[in-house]
Amino acid sequence: MGKMAVIAVGGNAILEADETGSAEAQLENIRITCSHIANMIKKDFTVVITHGNGPQVGNILLRNDIAEGIAPVMPMDVCVAESQGQIGYMIQQTLLNELKKIGIKARVTSLITQVVVDPNDDAFENPTKPIGPYYPESEAERLARKKGWTMMEDVARQGFRRVVPSPEPKEIVECETIKRLVQGEDDRNIIIAAGGGGVPVIKTEQGLIGAEAVVDKDFASSVLATSINADMLIMLTDVPCVAINFGKSQQEYLSHMTVAEATKYLKEGHFPPGSMGPKIVSAINFLENGGNEVIITTPENLEEAMDQKKGTRMVLG
Ligand code: ADP
Ligand code: MG
Repeated sequence: MGKMAVIAVGGNAILEADETGSAEAQLENIRITCSHIANMIKKDFTVVITHGNGPQVGNILLRNDIAEGIAPVMPMDVCVAESQGQIGYMIQQTLLNELKKIGIKARVTSLITQVVVDPNDDAFENPTKPIGPYYPESEAERLARKKGWTMMEDVARQGFRRVVPSPEPKEIVECETIKRLVQGEDDRNIIIAAGGGGVPVIKTEQGLIGAEAVVDKDFASSVLATSINADMLIMLTDVPCVAINFGKSQQEYLSHMTVAEATKYLKEGHFPPGSMGPKIVSAINFLENGGNEVIITTPENLEEAMDQKKGTRMVLG
């Protein structure tokens, strides 16, 4: 069996900020990403794909909102599962087609994945993750009263949004299934899992129940990569490299970074919480828990990044 890589596909690699989000637009972006992943599979890598779901789950929540009173409103966990189905289906079909084009036979399957979170996680007291549509202040107040939602103002976009907790992922419920599928005699099982960070669930005496929360997809990818003993964690996003002084005149792209350097830069504030921060923390956790290598780059740079010609490569040290 070749090296095993967990590849986390960022939201922007599926749906760019300025795009409408039509199925056609998503499929075209996914096709480009999958063509690069297919080339990696051709080089004998065993691949598990994870993905973001921000814009998609936002649209699912919006549809729920508009249809309220006509069709039953689904809770957050069900909406996350729905987004895993939508996006997983698109990746699964597209990757299969791309593999066929280059003559590779493989099975590609997406797996609805649950992620255990701790009900005592501080995040439940302090929801921070904005989701779904923007509302005017009066509507936001009404929703907060009626549904008990926490609403937060987004000053830049001049609207209010619902915020939900983003607890730490503890355990991937379907991890053993994923492991067996990819580590079997036949290494041509490509699995799409932990989409949108996985469906957050909590353990109770009665068994698992869904939580009104979202899990960060980079954190979930790192936990998944560790628990299936992956060699590599690759995060595909919309920047070619990790930078220090990002967006400033002294910006510098890094081709290589150790855990020690990453920890230092993180403390100095080079990696903000909503974007690069979770990727770097996930990378550090993966490397400190037995992972060999982390790559952060764009889908287009994937092949060259594997040859250490592009992207940011992170190792222990
Ligand atoms: P994804 O959907 O792929 O997770 P994010 O938007 O969460 O994408 O994270 C990628 C973004 O992080 C980039 O588009 C970039 O604007 C931002 N970013 C913040 N700090 C840095 C940094 N130090 N180096 C590179 N990109 C950074
Ligand atoms: Mg992100």
